[in-house]
Amino acid sequence: MNNKNAELFVNQIIAKVEKNKELILQVEQNIWKNPEIGYKEWKTTKYLQRIFEELGYEVKPAGDIPGFTAEISTGRPGPTIAIIAELDSLLCPEHPEADRETGAIHACGHHAQSAYLVGCAAAFAMPGALDGLCGSIRFMSVPAEETIDLEFRNSLIEKGTIHYVAGKVEFLYRGLFDGVDMVLFTHVLPNKEKPFAIDEGSDGCITKHFEYCGKASHAGFAPHEGINSLYAASLGMQACNSLRETFEEKDYIRFHPIITDGGVAANAIPGVTKLDTYVRASTFSKMIEVNQRINRALAASAAAMGANLLIHDIPGNMPLTNDKILSGLFTETVSEIFGEGNVEHTPWNCGTSDLGDISCLMPTIHPYVAGAEGTGHGSDYYLVDPVRACVSSAKVLAAMTVKLLMGEGEKAKEVLEHYQPVFKTTEEYFDAINAIKMCKKTVVYNEDGTVVLDFQNK
Ligand SMILES: [Zn+2]
Ligand SMILES: [Zn+2]
Repeated sequence: MNNKNAELFVNQIIAKVEKNKELILQVEQNIWKNPEIGYKEWKTTKYLQRIFEELGYEVKPAGDIPGFTAEISTGRPGPTIAIIAELDSLLCPEHPEADRETGAIHACGHHAQSAYLVGCAAAFAMPGALDGLCGSIRFMSVPAEETIDLEFRNSLIEKGTIHYVAGKVEFLYRGLFDGVDMVLFTHVLPNKEKPFAIDEGSDGCITKHFEYCGKASHAGFAPHEGINSLYAASLGMQACNSLRETFEEKDYIRFHPIITDGGVAANAIPGVTKLDTYVRASTFSKMIEVNQRINRALAASAAAMGANLLIHDIPGNMPLTNDKILSGLFTETVSEIFGEGNVEHTPWNCGTSDLGDISCLMPTIHPYVAGAEGTGHGSDYYLVDPVRACVSSAKVLAAMTVKLLMGEGEKAKEVLEHYQPVFKTTEEYFDAINAIKMCKKTVVYNEDGTVVLDFQNK
């Protein structure tokens, strides 16, 4: 495949995306007006499924959860590229355009992803679009990226409907990523200086719920009969804050607890104090290591007060590493379509995404595209430039797919040869995240007066 041919194929697919511009913008509008939160995206799934079927795709539904996959094959052997879109919205009832009943609103711009997904699928379904390519393209419409509404998700886990709160992890568990070699994606971000951006990656996290268990008593005449769980929690936070200067900048560690329950009456010593937080870090091993130190500090603070501490750790997201060769291809492709200097390169961000989990198993990119205004997840968030967010994204992703699958898929093979997975198999990955799960009381008071801290996950 020579350069001239490559240019021709890329230009052809971009023209095909452009031909579907109206459809792409219609999808953006429709989903903006019908926001649904994670694992409840049934209307959105039905709507998108119909569009894919009208485009001639055979849709494979995810089953008893929202979402689906649809694949197109070139008929020639080669790698499988997945293009992913997230289905879920957020909750922000204060947003003027939020769903009146549910408070749902696409304040993270995920609706733009379904629009580019349809744009790419429509372009590749057109006659001649697969000429000169090998392998397959899998379009994946995935639920539940945002870690919210946990009560509902836990109820789905209890019923056995889902096994993991994050949609991509659940898709992985259900085998819907089987056969995929690499993943392409974009995410809208407000207030970017340049139209496109990509960083080296982003943090992973462990989500934590913890409860200091003391003893309630009358705050006025019998505080000596109580054990103040709120003070124990306050000591725990102070201990963690004192650990902060041992956190190295390169590890991008974040710990940001909130108190969700700190007592019931001002005239009683609080018997139970509940907190939620994430522990974030830039690598899996650092995440585990720091979490242990935080658990030790929290448990020791409970022991200091004669209280106990229940720790409930749940795997959040894995750190995301943007594949270097795919990132280079992204920058090159944006430059070819929109001119040089349109990609901002940033070092690292401390947000997390369940695409991180996928990046531990296969080459993945999570670049950003401008086009939104206001505050991400906030009540003033709007997608103000859908052409950029949806149509331009579709052009870049479709052009990248063409470049990866051209000829004998040489570029995709180069990506795969250089990729170093964090986990060699899906089983190894699930063993690692399952090992994070922990729920136990961490202070043991022995009869001989010794106190043992049992904060390790064994
Ligand atoms: Zn978000
Ligand atoms: Zn998002």
